[in-house]
Amino acid sequence: MGAGFGGLATARKLAGQKDIEVTIVDRHPYQLFSPLLYQVATGGLPEDDIAYPVRAAIPGVLFRRGEVTKVSTDSKTITLADQAIIQYDQLVLATGSTGTTFGVSGVQENALQMKSILEARKIKKQLLGMYEEVEAGHQPVEALKVVVIGAGPTGVEVSGAVAELQKSMKYEFPKLYKQASVTLVEAGPRVLPMFHEKSSKHAQSELEEIGVTVKTNAAVDQMDKTEVHLKSGEVLIGGTFIWAAGVAAYSTWTSLGETDRSNRLMINDNLQTTSGVFVIGDGAHLQFKGNPLPMIAPVALQMGRHVAKQILNLKNNKELTKFKYTDKGQMATIGRRRAVVEMPGGLRLHGTLAWLTWLALHVFYLAGGRNRISVIADWMWNYIAWGVGPRRTVID
Ligand SMILES: Cc1cc2nc3c(=O)[nH]c(=O)nc-3n(C[C@H](O)[C@H](O)[C@H](O)COP(=O)(O)OP(=O)(O)OC[C@H]3O[C@@H](n4cnc5c(N)ncnc54)[C@H](O)[C@@H]3O)c2cc1C
Repeated sequence: MGAGFGGLATARKLAGQKDIEVTIVDRHPYQLFSPLLYQVATGGLPEDDIAYPVRAAIPGVLFRRGEVTKVSTDSKTITLADQAIIQYDQLVLATGSTGTTFGVSGVQENALQMKSILEARKIKKQLLGMYEEVEAGHQPVEALKVVVIGAGPTGVEVSGAVAELQKSMKYEFPKLYKQASVTLVEAGPRVLPMFHEKSSKHAQSELEEIGVTVKTNAAVDQMDKTEVHLKSGEVLIGGTFIWAAGVAAYSTWTSLGETDRSNRLMINDNLQTTSGVFVIGDGAHLQFKGNPLPMIAPVALQMGRHVAKQILNLKNNKELTKFKYTDKGQMATIGRRRAVVEMPGGLRLHGTLAWLTWLALHVFYLAGGRNRISVIADWMWNYIAWGVGPRRTVID
């Protein structure tokens, strides 16, 4: 279940194995490369570049498009929204996660989230469309102010990209572009809280250099259509609010076993729940060095490959083996030639070298030759023609 990073990693390893039939079920017919979603949301890349058709991804694997609504471990079946029932011998739950508002008042109704192509499309439409609304006098100039909530990698990346987008608007809206601004709001004491303090400091000063106002220790109390109210009493006025403050696993599957506060199913070292279902990626809670493994792509990929080995072990009547996570570090990009990279062993990179590392790794992990070439071409064009060339402007 799920054709994301984890599900496809499992399917890839099992494809073509003798006497094994693999079926992937997903509500979308494509794998979404979410690390680059913010570039779609800010007009840097077309959406096709970060979506890869699942049917073409792995020869010999069956694909069924559909929304899974029910899992029965007793009858070993899954039920889809159209009532189709699929029988399984081994189930791998790889359904990922969804945005969560933590119940903060007004967020659901007034903020945009960024978990899917549809949501990225909405952000782009709102960001670009607002200039026309203001130009036509339908909105006040304050509507060009953007507030991003949550300074994890997604919040940092999207606020940096919004700042660059706003600057590039001087050619289309020379009278308006200076009125636009972006504020990044973080409840904790620093941006990129999961990074080393030095990387956080560096990221914040880079963000400020490109024009992002950063507010730390600034928890959101509530919001409405035009205002974000902080717990301190400060009110931020704006026209676009992007909520990047948290993700949780889907609550649909909590009956399959014990879960944590983020709806993640608790699994053992074999990557199974107590009911024997394999769970991988963002939907799984497994401890590593005293903390749950983070909800990031490398975890899903490594778990996905390991589960494929477990299924082969089961088929060959061999013992299941313990999953061992290899920490490959973390990174976030801030803007053109600005990024922070942390490698295992304490090596930290900043600036152009970090940015080039970030670019290379993202191209490497992107699925499909066409997408890779297309992303490289777009990036080169964006780099050379930044601020003078046309952006991707289709927002209807
Ligand atoms: C904006 C954004 C930026 C990110 N940036 C990074 C980054 O830079 N680096 C990094 O390592 N990680 C990043 N991540 C996190 C990374 O994308 C996830 O950790 C990773 O996708 C998890 O893989 P997964 O296989 O668990 O789930 P996913 O890759 O999300 O796949 C889940 C799949 O399940 C399908 N699905 C869900 N429910 C159902 C259902 N009921 N029926 C049918 N299909 C269903 C979905 O359509 C989806 O295709 C980012 C995430 C986001 C949202």
